[in-house]
Amino acid sequence: MIIAIMGAMPEEIEPILERVGSYETTEYAHNRYFTCNYAGHTLVIAYSKIGKVFSALTAATMIEKFGAQILLFSGVAGGINPKLQIGDLIVATKLCQHDLDITAFGHPYGYVPEGAVYIESDAALRQSALEVAAAMGITLQEGVIATGDQFVASNERKAWIESTFHADALEMEGTAVAVVCDALEVPFLILRAISDTADMDAGFDFDTFLESSAKVSARFIMKMVEKL
Ligand code: SAH
Repeated sequence: MIIAIMGAMPEEIEPILERVGSYETTEYAHNRYFTCNYAGHTLVIAYSKIGKVFSALTAATMIEKFGAQILLFSGVAGGINPKLQIGDLIVATKLCQHDLDITAFGHPYGYVPEGAVYIESDAALRQSALEVAAAMGITLQEGVIATGDQFVASNERKAWIESTFHADALEMEGTAVAVVCDALEVPFLILRAISDTADMDAGFDFDTFLESSAKVSARFIMKMVEKL
């Protein structure tokens, strides 16, 4: 199988590249894509750069140019649900865009005509993630992930996203990737380890925990690849 593994930032894919050891590099559309064989699969690995536009471009490229048949996203997120502590893992059940707003026309937040507020992730991949977590003896929480082109470092914004979308975590790429995969009928999984809790300390926590949380997520994703 051809499996895409993507992150948004270098720190999110470096542990994956270290794990696979050697790979080929292809430059395309102002980005680099790393390909290799691993655990009986062909992997295409990339970080997109931050935000919805770059991540949509990378996801579409991995599918259309590199032929990815499933896509796994590994990265970090801000926690909303108090059950999610820094370093904990969450897999998205469904995802939404918290900054998409044409409510002036009577639509709900996160909705545009012919779109949907929530995109569901692939149930089989989620099930397999839960099995991997059980085998590793770690807790993997499931929940709603909200995406927007904003680094959230405010209790007020976080509370609004929680109450509007019932979101458990937030980040800046997941839903863009989900929309692309859904449209192109490629099963996907969005996995995130918590780097901060999106409050006023978020910037400081993010800088402190980015690397360690990114490693937690990357390690889990590689276990998943080994099981697929
Ligand atoms: N420190 C970086 C910017 C990080 S932006 C720089 O200066 O270059 C935050 C990244 O981590 C995004 O890719 C996003 O998906 C994720 N993330 C983690 N915590 C977040 C938060 N509180 N709000 C939004 N995104 C968050």
